[in-house]
Amino acid sequence: MTPSHLTFERRPHPSPRPTAEREAILAAPGFGRHFTDHMVTIAWTEDRGWHNARLEPYAPIPMDPSNMTLHYGQAIFEGLKAYAQPDKTVAMFRPEVNARRFQLSARRLAMPELPVDTFVEACELLVREDAAWVPQEPEHTLYLRPFMIASENSLGVRPAASYLFAVIATPAGAYFPGGVEPVSVWVSQSYVRAAPGGTGAAKCAGNYAASLIAQAEAAQQGCDQVVWLDAVERRWIEEVGVMNLCFVYGTGSDATIVTPRLTDTLLAGVTRDSLLSLAGELGYATRETRISVEDWQTGCADGSISEVFACGTAAVITPVGQARTADTSWTIADGRPGPVSLRLREALLRRQTGADTDPHGWLHPCT
Ligand SMILES: *Cc1c(COP(=O)(O)O)cnc(C)c1O
Repeated sequence: MTPSHLTFERRPHPSPRPTAEREAILAAPGFGRHFTDHMVTIAWTEDRGWHNARLEPYAPIPMDPSNMTLHYGQAIFEGLKAYAQPDKTVAMFRPEVNARRFQLSARRLAMPELPVDTFVEACELLVREDAAWVPQEPEHTLYLRPFMIASENSLGVRPAASYLFAVIATPAGAYFPGGVEPVSVWVSQSYVRAAPGGTGAAKCAGNYAASLIAQAEAAQQGCDQVVWLDAVERRWIEEVGVMNLCFVYGTGSDATIVTPRLTDTLLAGVTRDSLLSLAGELGYATRETRISVEDWQTGCADGSISEVFACGTAAVITPVGQARTADTSWTIADGRPGPVSLRLREALLRRQTGADTDPHGWLHPCT
């Protein structure tokens, strides 16, 4: 990594939120409803490159009605978390992996690439400044949302000539406050998330906009999440909602964790990657391959599939209890969270919160 040549100007908030108010928010943070006192912004123009890097008070971004993002959707984002550590410091989890994925998303949307170390430094500065906003309760975290939008005003259809990168932060409560609960999933035959050559591997706003109607369809069918199939054969399982999907074949120490292999129609989750690594360390076999809807259903019928779980930064691991298609439905084992899913979940949380050793250097200290 080359060192960042940007110097961040620090403009602290003249009147940060009073302690009592902040503590009231942290007592019941929810998700994405409250934001910390600061944000980090960096501008990019063709002639100056990245410049005007600053830490400043969280505030609206002034925007002209002809801002190109509003019309043509050059908008990408990331999601990662900062965790309170046992020694009272705060650490982010594998931020450089998010930084590299952000570069990939930028390339796909014809946007400028932010250097990895600048991305990480921007996140680190925000966490350090707003460290009082990092929740201390178990499974509570500070969620970081780096994003980039076009900032040029024009209706010309072409990549914008100027961009804004920003990082904001929101305290996040426990995803499963009452204990881990399985979800039901709807296998959508009507909609696809990603097609070969499309933007599926990029974390762009448009992918999310396009997925909402399928999520609504799943809800109409009485399911919690939508399962995405490949766009060509409508047969191979790709993802669930905005998470990756894993299948546990076998049980106990003989379990194998199987997940769809990465293609340009899958989003390469940091959680997916971390779990594959952890699974190996815990003695499970792992395999990245193709899994069809038929494989899933017959595997549950003959008992070869013992557990299925979704994984992503927000919930870490979400067990899948039931699956439905237009024609049929089935239960995964007894429909309850399985031991391998729960063990992996606990192991990853322990790495993230510093309860276990960190052999791969996944934690990035901020304070
Ligand atoms: C963000 C995202 C994921 C999960 O990625 P993590 O890095 O594990 O949070 C999976 N699928 C989609 C479509 C996503 O946008």
